[in-house]
Amino acid sequence: MKPTEELLAGILDEVRPLIGKGKVADYIPALAEVSPNKLGIAVCYNDGEIIQAGDSNECFSIQSISKVLSLTLAMTLYEPEEIWQRVGKEPSGHAFNSMIQLEMENGIPRNPFINAGALVVSDLLHSRLSAPQYRMLEQVRELACNPHLIYDKAVASSEMQHSDRNASIAYLMRSFGNFENEVMPVLTNYFSYCSLRMSCVDLARTFSYLANKGLPLGAKKTIISQTQSKQMNALLATCGLYDGAGEFAYRVGMPGKSGVGGGIVAIVPGEMTICVWSPELDPSGNSLAGTAALELLADRIGRSIF
Ligand code: GLN
Repeated sequence: MKPTEELLAGILDEVRPLIGKGKVADYIPALAEVSPNKLGIAVCYNDGEIIQAGDSNECFSIQSISKVLSLTLAMTLYEPEEIWQRVGKEPSGHAFNSMIQLEMENGIPRNPFINAGALVVSDLLHSRLSAPQYRMLEQVRELACNPHLIYDKAVASSEMQHSDRNASIAYLMRSFGNFENEVMPVLTNYFSYCSLRMSCVDLARTFSYLANKGLPLGAKKTIISQTQSKQMNALLATCGLYDGAGEFAYRVGMPGKSGVGGGIVAIVPGEMTICVWSPELDPSGNSLAGTAALELLADRIGRSIF
């Protein structure tokens, strides 16, 4: 069954009591300023039809959701083996900013969706593009069909001021020879990607290419191949929610990607993309009410990849 706006609004009402039970990310001080009461959802069908409810047009910090967009850009610039010799394809079972496996695994991150992996991807972009931040923004604006999207400079610089952990991760990888560029410029770019401000509607539109075999909304040409799109969805299903990936697969049953800004994007291949936003997080750093909303929606409309 197809969701209506009433169905989506009803789901938001059902999960609203969860607000207060999670925690807004505060290790990036600029994120702690966001109201925990925000709650939005948008569905984008592969033909472009949007169904939405709540704060679905309000922009928020996409944070780690950007890791999918930077990997997509890297896939357009590199041969697969050039990427996968530097970053793995396995779930980590550890926190998104953990370094514990890096030391034991020669500086090769488990997957591209934990911080270490996304930093390697940012390093790849830095090596091959003269203006990676510009190119990334251009790609995202095209995918979202929204020329007004911007980086949030306040969020990016707030994160730069608290970057010890990400810098440590990058330096450790560099000590193993798995980082080609100077750490600080790559970190600056990575924080900018994370600071992208987008709404649920923007994000649902942007990720349409993963529900449509690599073909972005309104485009004539694929951005990545059908095979790459399948591969990306597989990585999202196994690694997109860090050490909460198994729980998310069990409850929601869709490839997905979360960010500490409280957004989660989920893909129903062949049909639609969904984006939810609720800033309070569970202990794994995934939106608490957002996951619950996706679980209810998956159930009500009878969709899952399993
Ligand atoms: N910018 C954040 C960080 O590097 C992204 C983390 C996230 O969204 N899980 O810590």
